[in-house]
Parts: sequence; structure tokens; C-alpha cells
Amino acid sequence: MTDQHPKPHASQSFETLAIHAGQAADPATGAVVPPIYQVSTFKQDGVGGLRNGYEYSRSANPTRTALEENLAALEGGSRGLAFASGLAAEDCLLRALLTPGDHVVIPNDAYGGTFRLISKVVERWGVQWSVADSSNPESVRAEIRPNTKLIWVETPTNPLLGITDIAVIADVARTAGVRLVVDNTFASPYLQQPLALGADIVVHSTTKYMGGHSDVVGGALITSDSGLADELAYHQNAMGAVAGPFDAWLVMRGTKTLAVRMDRHCENATRITELLTSHPKVAQVYYPGLEEHPGHEVAVKQMRAFGGMVSFRVAGGEQAAIDVCNRAELFTLGESLGGVESLIEHPGRMTHASVAGSALEVPADLVRLSVGIESADDLIADLKQALG
Ligand SMILES: *Cc1c(COP(=O)(O)O)cnc(C)c1O
Repeated sequence: MTDQHPKPHASQSFETLAIHAGQAADPATGAVVPPIYQVSTFKQDGVGGLRNGYEYSRSANPTRTALEENLAALEGGSRGLAFASGLAAEDCLLRALLTPGDHVVIPNDAYGGTFRLISKVVERWGVQWSVADSSNPESVRAEIRPNTKLIWVETPTNPLLGITDIAVIADVARTAGVRLVVDNTFASPYLQQPLALGADIVVHSTTKYMGGHSDVVGGALITSDSGLADELAYHQNAMGAVAGPFDAWLVMRGTKTLAVRMDRHCENATRITELLTSHPKVAQVYYPGLEEHPGHEVAVKQMRAFGGMVSFRVAGGEQAAIDVCNRAELFTLGESLGGVESLIEHPGRMTHASVAGSALEVPADLVRLSVGIESADDLIADLKQALG
């Protein structure tokens, strides 16, 4: 089903692959962008005579195929799979690779939805889990049991921007005969390439930087292990939480500009940390690009730049942090991240309200920014007035 999409050259750079991988002109019309094949079923040329392998859109759809090839190329994998959401991708991965009695090591600052999926849903099916500080390889090693099948890592983490050394944890995983999954949502493949660093599978919420325009919810799995890819693809079809054609098309539209958007996200975030680190109302700034960040050296080693997410603690406590969020005007008060528009939120009351009282609790005076691609000067002016 992929023969009409010639494989791009591995030597091509990220920016070129982003625009061309999986994006051959439409064979029927020459349309330069893969059309939205908004269709459920495909005419067969005689019983079993499938055209390019297309039969039914849960199993495969040409728009989704175009996105999946694009995602695989961007992560340096051999196979990409696109899902209806990041959590649908995670659910597929967990149920494809784990059976009752298996154990998974998860990070102590996992995305809340990942923590909920594993601790509330997957656990009911007899899967065990335990929590490690994945910025510390010894902590991860100490959690590995004879029945451990997966190590789950996120880097940078949400919302404290913790950094995990992917190559080191990949080594821990390989030594233990365990698979390593990296949620690469915060960095995007432009900034960080987990498969090249030794991870077995990359997970994305394409809702965030990959889509990049706050107009679609989607997810992805990428791997370069063909046996694993077959297992995941089998489960993707069996479970059915696939990306629809229009959603796949929107994510693909986003990935084409990922490199230029990420450059600007990173540049603006850096400018904003210059304001925050010198502001009297700010008690602490979390950004892996800052030399004082505990993960800075590892981030320099494994990331091209440090991303568009910045968190900070407001002097004056929880109410002061909430006031900053409420006073911001150009920064939109809202959850999610990774879009072209800047967002501000209070994790303790918003994205991370469900982890209050658990090991994943976040400081009450914390504010999280998803720095967009507007003018940095305008963003800085807004933050200055919001800080008062
Ligand atoms: C948003 C997010 C997810 C979940 O993705 P959805 O598309 O919302 O289902 C998973 N991991 C991280 C790091 C996220 O930010």
C-alpha cells in the first residue's frame, strides 16, 4: 500500500523529510498535498482485488498512511502508526505489549493521563507498575523486577521540565532485557530523537507540537523494530482507535512546519526565561536551557534546543500564582500546549489537579507557560503586566 509513496532518502535533513516524507503527489490527480480520503470502504477489483492494499479505513486509509510515513521518517523509525489521541496510542502500546502479571516502571512525574491509564485502567487487568525517578538511572534500575516488560520515560517532563538521559536508560533497559518507551511529546522529533538514542518505541500526543495549531487531537507510535511494528499495527486495527482522515491531514499539515515553529518556540522561551530569572516576583524558573537546571548537561547532549515549555514559581504562594494566570491577556488561560498561540495555566488547579496528594503532586505556586510563536516582545510585555 506504500508503493505510490517513494521512500525519501535517509540522507535528507529533517526539514526536507517533514515536507516530503509520505507526501508524494496524488497518483490520481497530481494534487501536491495528499487529499483527505474521507471514506470508510474501498471498491475492490474483483473479490480480494485490493487497490494498493486499501480495504476498509480502520485497517488503512491513504491519508493516514501519508501521515504514518511522515511520522516514521521524522522520528527515524521504520514504521509510524497514527491514533485518535495520545492516550489511544498509549493504550494500544500497553495492551499490545503487556499481559496480566507483567510490570511496568513509570516516571514519578508522568503525564497525568498516562499515570491514570496505567494506575486506574491497565492495573485492573492485572498489570503491575511502580514509580521511579527516571532522571536517576539507579532509581530506574532498582525498580526492575523479573516480570518487568517496559520502562516508560518522558523527557522533558510536565510541568517541572525534568530531564532523563535517554541513552543511559536505554542501556539500563537493554541490560535487563526490557523495552524502553519514550514519550517525546514535549521535545518533538525536531529537538530529540529517542530511537537513535536507543529507545524501542516513541509515543506522541500529536495534539501538541506535531499538530501545532490547537485544532486536532491525535496520537502516534513509532518504532524501528519491524516485529514490534507488526504487533502494534495488529493491535491498532484490532482495537480501532485510529486517526480519522481529516485529523490525520491536520497533523500532517502541522508536521511540515514543525522545524520552523520549534525554532521560534525555543527562541521565545529563552527570551522569556531571561525576564523571569531576573524578576523579583519569580521565586524559581524551570527550563532545561538554564545552566542551573539539574538536567541542563544531559539536555545539551540529547536535544537540539530546549523547547517551548517554561514553568516558574511565583513568590507569594498559590494565590499569587493564580493571580498571574488570571491577569495574563495575550497568554490564553488554558490547558494543553504546543500550539502557535501562547498559553498559561496553574497546574495545581488545572492540568495536575488529579494528582494532588500523590507522588506526582506539583508546587501550589507553580505557573506553566506554553510559549507560542507570537512576537517575544509582546509576550514579555504581557508577562510583565501579569506579574504586576
Ligand atoms: C497531552 C499529552 C498526552 C496525552 O495525549 P492526548 O492527545 O491528550 O490523548 C500524553 N503525553 C504527554 C506528554 C502529553 O502532553
